Amino acid sequence: MSKRDYYDVLGVARGASKDDLKRSYRKLAMQYHPDRNPGDDEAERQFKELNEAYDVLKDDEKKAAYDRFGHAAFENGAAGRPGGGGGFGGGGFADIFEEMFGEFMGGARRGGGAGRGSDLRYNMTISLEDAFQGRQTEIRIPTSAACESCNGSGAEKGSKPIGCPTCHGAGKVRAQQGFFTIERTCPACGGVGQVIEKPCRTCSGAGRQRKEKTLSVNIPAGVEDGTRIRLTGEGEAGMRGAPAGDLYLFLSVEPHPLFQREGADVHCRVPVSMVAAALGGQIEVPTIEGARARLTVPAGTQSGRQFRLKGKGMSVLRSPARGDMYVEVAVETPMNLTKRQRELLAEFKAEAGDDTTSPQSHGFFDKVKELWDDLRD
Ligand SMILES: [Zn+2]
Ligand SMILES: [Zn+2]
Repeated sequence: MSKRDYYDVLGVARGASKDDLKRSYRKLAMQYHPDRNPGDDEAERQFKELNEAYDVLKDDEKKAAYDRFGHAAFENGAAGRPGGGGGFGGGGFADIFEEMFGEFMGGARRGGGAGRGSDLRYNMTISLEDAFQGRQTEIRIPTSAACESCNGSGAEKGSKPIGCPTCHGAGKVRAQQGFFTIERTCPACGGVGQVIEKPCRTCSGAGRQRKEKTLSVNIPAGVEDGTRIRLTGEGEAGMRGAPAGDLYLFLSVEPHPLFQREGADVHCRVPVSMVAAALGGQIEVPTIEGARARLTVPAGTQSGRQFRLKGKGMSVLRSPARGDMYVEVAVETPMNLTKRQRELLAEFKAEAGDDTTSPQSHGFFDKVKELWDDLRD
């Protein structure tokens, strides 16, 4: 039977507010509650369905995943992961992370099979240039790896783990509780399905050892601050041959002394001398790839004016495209003048008159005059 849409289950429209969701949930929960419908299997099914739907939609992160991927967000899609937990924490949800590359969703993680190794987090700081170019690098991480003496089985050489007598190898035991069959992890084997008679002396039967490992990591061009990269199976080794966890690389991009990034664009403030700004000319500006670009500054350029250099911005993740570079001109007032320079500027002042050479002052003082005139009225 295909699953019903969670919004239909709750009887609300997509985009319903949290309060609406809660109200509708409460109403329906009262209606289908097992205490009010003793022995009614259909009501019990609806009550479970309702709880499942509300569980997802009341949680912002789960809701976002559901809105985007539907039920597929919570299915156990991961191949080769024995005994995936089901519901949240199932393999399918973690796989979404790869599609949401770069988006951050905290909290959720893959449950995986019994004894699966933990996921690891590794924080890494890179420069803006690295984020632009991409980078191949090596990292060393303290982790646990499969024990070499027993090849991760946990059993001493010459012996083998045997099937768990409590759960007959299933790793789970069932118990009846009211309406529900509760499935629990087998207490005898911890869910592994096997027990060890003679534990390995090196790892005391855990099948793994503390170790530092070196990993080669490829950081693609265009990553952003907060991007996380998943390295499947590079987390901690699992217990006794169970699947390893994943390694999540959390990237922070260092602020750059010259460039500010804004998405795919790069901003840069470049000082220009008063004379160059007045007369116009070409200036050289640095670019993120470490080269220089020529920029024509027209005569009469004002401080704060922006120029766009198309295609000189950041690289874009998984795309050949590049953003633009915005150069903001900061016109510099000359300092430490020689006597001759001072004379020339004095001469310039006598020659210029204020109105035509200083267009902004002109507009500004007009407004000041209006303000003072208004105050007088
Ligand atoms: Zn067992
Ligand atoms: Zn061992």
